[in-house]
Amino acid sequence: MKNKFRIPLNRPALVGSELRYIGDALRRGQISGDGFYTRRCSAYLEHLLGARRVLLTPSCTHALELAFLLLPTEPGQEVLCPSFTFPSTANAFVLRGLKPRFIDIRPDTLNMDERLVEASITRRTAAITPVHYAGVPCQMDVIMNVARKHHLTVVEDAAQALGARFRKRPAGTFGALNAFSFHETKNCMCGEGGALVIMESRYTRRAEIIRQKGTNREAFYRGETDKYSWVDRGSSYVPSELQTAYLMAQLEKLEAITRRRRHLYESYHEALTPLEARGLLQLPIIPKDCESSYHLFHVLFETGHERQRVMSAMQRKGIYATFHFLPLHLSAMGRCFGYRKGDFPVTESASDRLLRLPLYNSMTPSEQDQVIRALKTLF
Ligand SMILES: *Cc1c(COP(=O)(O)O)cnc(C)c1O
Repeated sequence: MKNKFRIPLNRPALVGSELRYIGDALRRGQISGDGFYTRRCSAYLEHLLGARRVLLTPSCTHALELAFLLLPTEPGQEVLCPSFTFPSTANAFVLRGLKPRFIDIRPDTLNMDERLVEASITRRTAAITPVHYAGVPCQMDVIMNVARKHHLTVVEDAAQALGARFRKRPAGTFGALNAFSFHETKNCMCGEGGALVIMESRYTRRAEIIRQKGTNREAFYRGETDKYSWVDRGSSYVPSELQTAYLMAQLEKLEAITRRRRHLYESYHEALTPLEARGLLQLPIIPKDCESSYHLFHVLFETGHERQRVMSAMQRKGIYATFHFLPLHLSAMGRCFGYRKGDFPVTESASDRLLRLPLYNSMTPSEQDQVIRALKTLF
């Protein structure tokens, strides 16, 4: 399926010292987790984000699960989040017996509409989980004010937003606990990977224990105890040194990666502006108080029918332009929670009309040119 496309949606690529670092990890003789490279990645991210602690995980999904294992919640409570997101956002707390209380998105950024958050809070609300769509931060000032007023914990799904900022503050540092993804499709990646960002130190010790199979192994490594044993509930949320060695090579190129993606984003924007002027499509926007991570580039068509026409034509030309997200409230699981078609009109409309264009770190000017020309000839 993937191979029939001349230009894929995403193409994982080496950006620097990946192979050298993996070789070094092998020579160091530890390829299980929490060795030299895992510590380096954590330290890098802690410094970048000003976090109390950053714990590398095998995926963003695991980081979100770890966040909801740490929060004192009870089954039947609710978490506010967008329906326009990846299933992991909701699955992390559904595993704890919590329910998603979906919130519609803004028609411009496709982020959770911050003006709708407060009205959705009930006695059962336990947390708010904003998602920074495409790497454009949500309006975190409004969301944090509402959270403080109602004593709610914020857990950001910052999967797409490494390097993004809202009013100069990095995405993934507003909530008490936040998650990043290093999946192959993300800006910085290691195949599969993620990180839990801890902004409040009261969560650190238990996060380390849960991540290390319910043991105090982390404290043992630091020499704080002379043996380690089973002290709490836990699981295994530790990536291997092979993954984190790869990741370190990508993280040290974060600025160059963001610059490169910004350039691709702006080239698309500029080239497609005449189509927008003719009313043929709508281009993405980045609000003035936001700096994007330029994770992806999407356009919105007037109708779902038009999106379908353009998508099929692009794919026939060997260019993998595609859609997302299927709204969670219309999925089989969403319907189990009682949601129906029509509940979130902006989400449903955007999901119908959205087309993603190929954008990846190693995309060449010629490849981007082919995408733009293919799109233009369809009008
Ligand atoms: C990619 C993504 C995830 C899942 O990340 P994994 O590392 O694959 O678990 C979760 N939420 C959002 C918004 C994502 O884009």
